[in-house]
Amino acid sequence: MSLGTGKGGSGMSLVNCRGCGKLQLGSAEVLCSDCLRGRIEQSHRVKSYLREHPQATVMELCAHTGLPLSTIHEMVKRV
Ligand SMILES: [Zn+2]
Repeated sequence: MSLGTGKGGSGMSLVNCRGCGKLQLGSAEVLCSDCLRGRIEQSHRVKSYLREHPQATVMELCAHTGLPLSTIHEMVKRV
């Protein structure tokens, strides 16, 4: 396979993983499979905490899950 650096290619190109910065093939800025797996585990932690503590604040989530605020903000937005 060839990793063209020029423009004009259709479809997949090299992009950096949004999580770890690793180069991967993709059509947009996304997470690599490692980060994706980690992100899913993290979101499970956040969701299960929210289920038991529906009134929890982002700060509480941060403290209890050990995840960075930005990550939690991103997850909460999607809930
Ligand atoms: Zn990654």
